[in-house]
Amino acid sequence: MPCTLFISDLHLDPQRPEITRLFLDFLEGRGRSAERLYILGDLFEAWVGDDDDSSLADAVCAGLRDCAGSGTPVYVMHGNRDFLLGEDFAAASGCKLLADPTVVDLYGQATLLMHGDLLCTDDTEYLAFRDMVREPAWQQAFLARPLAERRQIAAQLRETSIERTHGKPDSIMDVNPQTVTDTMERHAVQRLIHGHTHRPAVHELRVNGKPARRLVLGDWYEQGSVLECTPAGCRLQSLS
Ligand code: MN
Repeated sequence: MPCTLFISDLHLDPQRPEITRLFLDFLEGRGRSAERLYILGDLFEAWVGDDDDSSLADAVCAGLRDCAGSGTPVYVMHGNRDFLLGEDFAAASGCKLLADPTVVDLYGQATLLMHGDLLCTDDTEYLAFRDMVREPAWQQAFLARPLAERRQIAAQLRETSIERTHGKPDSIMDVNPQTVTDTMERHAVQRLIHGHTHRPAVHELRVNGKPARRLVLGDWYEQGSVLECTPAGCRLQSLS
């Protein structure tokens, strides 16, 4: 049966080589047999520019290129960690960059794809930061710095983010239900797939007076998490 795979929040990092291995094996196996593979943000724990010459970046680009080259189109959306993935990365990895949000036809059903951070509208502090770092001028200035300096800044930003996250109640870090409904109604969809919150689940809701579903992908900190969709439906799976 044809199948489409969705993953997100792998947070690939040199500190966790076993997760990189799990992902590379996934690309060689299930990735190749899928019709399409969507990576909905935070593939990398950090991305400081397409000129990154780390061995992690090289290994992941090579794995993606082999998977895409075998005939599985691979789509990559920006997350809040790897929003600097650019056209040079796309060329090196054979992936296509996907805008956030994007609506795709998934076996006959219009489906909205997002990373998920835009749905967390209660976290106004983060959204202000997001606006800043998505500005072309901010990105150009950042990318003009030497690689070593960018790595340092990224590490600092990550620490600040961890500190701020610890002080926030759980509800602020999750999606805002009204934003979810509004966003789905605006895009006229009954199905939404996103990651970011690291709370894998299938939520039933009503959108435009009709039943709808929000499918949340899990992170890859301890294990893998995959959403497999076929013409018969979608199911969330864990990979150990
Ligand atoms: Mn995220």
